[in-house]
Amino acid sequence: TTPQSPLGFFGTDSLLGEDDIAIRDTVRKYVEDKVKPQLAGWYESASIPARELAKELGDLGVLGMHLEGYGCTGTSATAYGLACMELEAGDSGLRSLVSVQGSLAMFAIWKHGSEEQKQEWLPRMAAGDAIGCFGLTEPDFGSNPSGMRTRAKKDGDDWVLSGNKMWITNGSVADVAVVWAQTDEGIRGFVVPTDTPGFSAPEIKQKMSLRASVTSELVLDNVRLPDSAVLPDVTGLSGPLSCLNEARFGIVFGALGAARDCLETAIAYANDRDIFDKPLSAFQLTQAKIADMSLELGKGMLLALHLGRLKDAGTLDHRQVSLGKLNNTREAIAIARECRTILGAAGITLEYPIMRHANNLESVLTYEGTSEVHQLVIGQALTGHAAYR
Ligand code: FAD
Repeated sequence: TTPQSPLGFFGTDSLLGEDDIAIRDTVRKYVEDKVKPQLAGWYESASIPARELAKELGDLGVLGMHLEGYGCTGTSATAYGLACMELEAGDSGLRSLVSVQGSLAMFAIWKHGSEEQKQEWLPRMAAGDAIGCFGLTEPDFGSNPSGMRTRAKKDGDDWVLSGNKMWITNGSVADVAVVWAQTDEGIRGFVVPTDTPGFSAPEIKQKMSLRASVTSELVLDNVRLPDSAVLPDVTGLSGPLSCLNEARFGIVFGALGAARDCLETAIAYANDRDIFDKPLSAFQLTQAKIADMSLELGKGMLLALHLGRLKDAGTLDHRQVSLGKLNNTREAIAIARECRTILGAAGITLEYPIMRHANNLESVLTYEGTSEVHQLVIGQALTGHAAYR
């Protein structure tokens, strides 16, 4: 019989609208034609042409694509998820560039910014002419950002920011940083042009994961900003958390893109590879692995689409996003590791995407709320008890 693709077999396309499919296929073609041939090289050299990529992604219409107005495409949340899936089928680093730009930096300005901040930044960011980053995590505060030490003090009409942020995607290539800092009124967000004196963003080197992505420290050494730099509409941790929730939603789909690419690669490899005089894919143990992995991929896809429809209906609870982020990153990394076994030694090279995806997914498991934190979110939702401390 003619073999089917894992998600084709599940028939999940029947749950998508024509617009969703058109957007997905456009992004898929871009990733296949323009990005995939370059990825092994970028990964090995740990460098990406971020500026050119941002411009291409802007032309593709995926930067802030689910936001309305200010040059953004204004698609459904589900279509945004599907785009994330295709980008991450290329590389989690590519999807991270888009998530941080659209769901963290642009969303923060779009949701909480002044009209002046929106006009200044959003159209350029949507076009990929300006790159954004989002500085929440600090060297000593990751899962517990409320303890952050970065401080913004009022000085006359100005604000003066001091502190350090860590693990910031796009940091060294950003034109604008959305930085969260403690103030006398609680945590507030600041729109910081990266050429402001006192701002620097040294790149973090020697990463074994997300090598095709820029990750940086942000150093804020008495960065002086006008009062118009503060995000006016939000005080407290709910500001940054509202943005993280958007990016997490993209990861629910994105992680499955990496898993799908691994599984398709492993099935093709197993069909081609003869062992003991027949294809590796014709052995029962291999088929059991493939069947189990395609089940998890398909179930993850159904969950992602369900959450996408809830989000489009405006009824998605942020704790439900935790269900998707926890399940789909955890299953994606398990799929990547199992696929690697099917390729044997060839699985450890950059000739195939599997080890690259597996390594990337280590970061995806940790950022945007670690798996443990999402377990605690779900645990609290189901028991009523907060167990963070
Ligand atoms: P910690 O918080 O120190 O956690 C260490 C371990 O303790 C984890 O296993 C965690 O789950 C566990 N743990 C924490 N709390 C509990 C608890 N209550 N009970 C049990 N276990 C617990 N941040 C940004 O602000 N912007 C970015 O653009 C960004 N990009 C990133 C890119 C990459 C490649 C990476 C790796 C990280 C990025 N981050 C970014 C940071 C990321 O959000 C943090 O790494 C994450 O929040 C976890 O924080 P941490 O690394 O300090 O780990």
